[in-house]
Amino acid sequence: MATFIPPTERRNPSPHLPFGDHRDAPFYGHDILSVAQFGRNDLEYIFGVAKEMRAMVERVGTFDLLKGKILANLFYEPSTRTSSSFTAAMERLGGSVIPINEVHYSSVAKGESLPDTIRSLECYADVIVLRHPEVGSADVAARYARKPIINGGDGVGEHPTQALLDLFTIMEELGRVDGLTVTMLGDLKYGRTVHSLARLLSLFDINLRYVAPEILAMPPALVQELDAKGIPQTSVTTLEPVLPDTDVLYVTRVQKERFEDQEQYEQVKGAYVITPDTMEQAKDEMIVMHPLPRVGEISMELDTDPRAAYFRQMEYGLYLRMALLAMVLGKA
Ligand code: ASP
Repeated sequence: MATFIPPTERRNPSPHLPFGDHRDAPFYGHDILSVAQFGRNDLEYIFGVAKEMRAMVERVGTFDLLKGKILANLFYEPSTRTSSSFTAAMERLGGSVIPINEVHYSSVAKGESLPDTIRSLECYADVIVLRHPEVGSADVAARYARKPIINGGDGVGEHPTQALLDLFTIMEELGRVDGLTVTMLGDLKYGRTVHSLARLLSLFDINLRYVAPEILAMPPALVQELDAKGIPQTSVTTLEPVLPDTDVLYVTRVQKERFEDQEQYEQVKGAYVITPDTMEQAKDEMIVMHPLPRVGEISMELDTDPRAAYFRQMEYGLYLRMALLAMVLGKA
């Protein structure tokens, strides 16, 4: 079957930009597909905009930077935070949202292809956030779309906006990234958030520790990729030896939906549980993060510990996603 791949250089075809658009702004009209797109200067810029967004939200709550702009939120997989934070981000910027969270009720259920769904939605929207179970789906969507595509998670591949908000959280909470030891724990095989975060952290002078059952270890290709960049990485199966040095403990859920063999899931699902007792071995000045949802791997008793940063992390996500929307739409 011949595949027709249309030209990609068709971003922002209209020369009639509304007053206030910044054509020269970095990321104007760009897709956000992978953390590989970003260098340290970009991160500084994005985090600067995110801080401005926080200041504005604190001052006025909602403002009209993206008034008249429309976001299509296209989710083929469940989501609470990514979907609702993009919605909140768009609405706080004065724009509006077409939510397609239940693809069962859309034409996808009739067998519509991803390219067709994308080409339809971009007739109505200015930017599309896509979550899809297949690795590479956001790249496919971007190849067909004239409007910016933001990858909201492509299967076990990447989750770039989560990694950006994770890094923003680390910067804001600990004041730096260089020199830190980040310990990633849980499902490092299927967890897309750790794949993106590890890659993004490799822009810094960082020590990475991986704690996972053997069958959920970080993918060897990713370990090699970071190795080639000179990132020190250590893999262990228990937290105890690495916790005392850890500055950021990044906990993840075992990704039940990615297992072909549910018995295997049952064997590893309760592999790690972080409790106040566990945290006695941790530094006073460190943070515990989690992309959420948690399903037992962090006990609720930890929530009142000031080091528990996972709910603050969600709030950083709102400002970060506001920044991204404003940037790709040429308003930042
Ligand atoms: N919410 C994150 C994701 O979409 C983490 C998770 O589901 O475990 O990847």
